[in-house]
Amino acid sequence: KMFNEIQELKGNIRVFCRIRPFLPGQKEKQTIVDYIGEDGELVIANPSKPGKDSHRLFKFNKVFGLAATQEEVFSDIQPLIRSVLDGFNVCIFAYGQTGSGKTFTMTGPNGATKENWGVNYRALNDLFDISQSRRSALAYEMGVQMIEIYNEQCTGAAPIVTYVYFWTRVTIATCPMHWSTGPVPDASMQPVNSTSDVIEIMDTGLRNRAVGATALNERSSRSHSVVTINVRGKDLKTGAALLGNLHLVDLAGSERVDRSEVTGDRLREAQHINKSLSALGDVIFALAQKSPHVPYRNSKLTQVLQSSLGGQAKTLMFVQLNPDGNSYSESLSTLKFAERVS
Ligand code: ADP
Ligand code: MG
Repeated sequence: KMFNEIQELKGNIRVFCRIRPFLPGQKEKQTIVDYIGEDGELVIANPSKPGKDSHRLFKFNKVFGLAATQEEVFSDIQPLIRSVLDGFNVCIFAYGQTGSGKTFTMTGPNGATKENWGVNYRALNDLFDISQSRRSALAYEMGVQMIEIYNEQCTGAAPIVTYVYFWTRVTIATCPMHWSTGPVPDASMQPVNSTSDVIEIMDTGLRNRAVGATALNERSSRSHSVVTINVRGKDLKTGAALLGNLHLVDLAGSERVDRSEVTGDRLREAQHINKSLSALGDVIFALAQKSPHVPYRNSKLTQVLQSSLGGQAKTLMFVQLNPDGNSYSESLSTLKFAERVS
């Protein structure tokens, strides 16, 4: 319901801002956050340049302050996630510099307990619960795929996915239907029967992301991680079918890389990230403007997400911020990216 109200105002795109707390041991406690309003207002200031000129106001659909819990965040997006069971396509992604809390929001901290679960665990859990209880007239099948997009190339000549972790098929009730492929058809598939099975597989997928243990953070900050949940429902009386999908995306870090300091592989990675994040920005901007031409083909990221961006699909962006004064200029450029699409 909340989503529909917003939809009337600005189509199918919403933007939530989330500011992570200061971390234990983070010395500099000067913050960029000046004011957070009830209606999505955020004022930031540059603590190293005090004065009125350094204040800037941004407006979002909602701002989650430093103390917001995972549960609070999820309760605001739950209706969006549940609409997948009604046949909607939904895309939720987290944008921000490395260390701003993208993975925390989308997945949770390392070794998260249920209390700290991020969006993707909660979404799966919720979709399972609902599909099994409330909608007894419908039988659902769910497929889950996790992919990583790393060094994508817009020519399409190179493989778009370097690591494919799993492709899961869940049969909640027997649906005599053929299962179509996810965005990456050759990903592996394995059957599971419960939420805990899916969670186990997701954990395996996330562990697999650590190509080298110490490289985990380094690596994850330079690739996009996409969890796709396909839902197929069938009305047991009429036989009518519906399809919905949910994309949950932990984007590569948006920080600008100093071209004078990086070369070789690092420079190439940075260029790919720039290209795909700006392609994503262009797509969302075009959708927000209701432009007749939406440039999906400009990056592999936007091609993979195409089914859940535009048309009847619903898109939600988490704009993630580090509250630290030292991150002021990166935070400002994150906010400017968001401002363009909101
Ligand atoms: P990113 O994925 O954007 O690089 P992370 O999600 O890894 O950032 O967050 C950086 C650090 O901050 C991690 O140690 C993470 O656990 C912590 N963190 C991020 N957001 C929160 C939060 N809302 N509450 C507590 N800790 C957080
Ligand atoms: Mg991360």
